[in-house]
Amino acid sequence: MNLSYPEHHFVKNGHIKTCQICNSDKLHTILDLGHQPLCDSLLTESMLNEPEKNYPLRMVWCENCTNAQIDYCVDGKEVYYPDYPYRSGVTKELVEYQVKISHSLIRKYGLKTNDLVVDVGSNDGILLSGFKNTGIKTLGVEPTNIAKIANANGIETIQEFFDIRVSEEIKNKYGLASVIVTTNTFAHMQTIGEFIVGAYNLLKNGGIFISETHYLLDVIKGGQFDTVYHEHLRTYSLKGLVTLFNQYDFTVTDVERGDRYGGNIRVHVTKGRNRKVSPEVDKLLKIEEEFGLGKLETFEKFAKRVKTARLGFMDFLIATNKAGKRIVGNSCPGRSSTLLNYYGVDSELLPYLAEQPASLKLGKYLPGKHIPVVNNQRLIDEQPDYVVLLAWHYAKPIMKQLKARGLKSDFVIPLPDFKIVKNSE
Ligand SMILES: [Zn+2]
Repeated sequence: MNLSYPEHHFVKNGHIKTCQICNSDKLHTILDLGHQPLCDSLLTESMLNEPEKNYPLRMVWCENCTNAQIDYCVDGKEVYYPDYPYRSGVTKELVEYQVKISHSLIRKYGLKTNDLVVDVGSNDGILLSGFKNTGIKTLGVEPTNIAKIANANGIETIQEFFDIRVSEEIKNKYGLASVIVTTNTFAHMQTIGEFIVGAYNLLKNGGIFISETHYLLDVIKGGQFDTVYHEHLRTYSLKGLVTLFNQYDFTVTDVERGDRYGGNIRVHVTKGRNRKVSPEVDKLLKIEEEFGLGKLETFEKFAKRVKTARLGFMDFLIATNKAGKRIVGNSCPGRSSTLLNYYGVDSELLPYLAEQPASLKLGKYLPGKHIPVVNNQRLIDEQPDYVVLLAWHYAKPIMKQLKARGLKSDFVIPLPDFKIVKNSE
């Protein structure tokens, strides 16, 4: 078996000069977000006394395959340090969502108790628990210490980065997999080739690889420049994904869209060429073309909208501070770091970011701008005039929850276009 991959599918640290998918040099810079720190490397109080590292953050677009990417790669070992704070089980919505994915995949592929499902980047094992509860064999692969939480919860998880070597180890110990699934990781990895070939090696013939990531069309349509951060090396279009898998013995056989992360794409890829393809694939490729993902002017318009939203937000933030009113932030998702660092918002303008009581980010500071992260009970206790929703892609449920807890403040929604939502609305 030939377990090799093209050289450009191993993204090297540092400046990236060609497309990570098709290796074309026809790249255009869409947005320059300046030099920024890693968005999930929150600082402890003592770290505020030390220098902080920043890296270029630019969104570029490939004219050839329509994929978007950033043009600087930070070493994955630095990005996903052992105490990386993300944990999927924290929000109820996410748990329900992950269980729903597992049930839909069990139905679609008729999975039985002798099938093995492997989740790469399995986090605390929530997605796998949906499979495991119906008796299907599961295995998690998770590089961070969160693997220990998964194991403690009874979801067998190996603490590794997934690559060809690890795929071989799994195959020897657990046998071939029917399904390999990865949510919110496939846009992150430097080792695209290692991952795809590892999946190929571990899957049985006709086995399915399923990847869910944020989706370029939704990012552009929704003005979501804040999904651009160093963890997201690529923002996939379907055309980009098809271009990617055409370089391997895989067929993109189905695609679904959803609203997670403000718009996501779930692509189903079957081991082997010339597999039966769902009409959904051609349908979405056509939608991308009609939307203009193949045209530079689409991206220029996007950049203009981003800059307009920034000015609207900053005008309001400064005017509110000048008027002596209280404005604070709610939640601290990775994307809030991109937004606040690009806009230039520090704790003088926005004194804190409120997070739910179970968050691992409490007591830490936003990278770059050093805004403290506090327990969101403080919102209720202090009733500021305005609360900026930094997880604005979940604005509706968050406003509902906060109002149910007794919050009387008005809300600021920064994107896709800056707007104020009155508490009474
Ligand atoms: Zn390309």
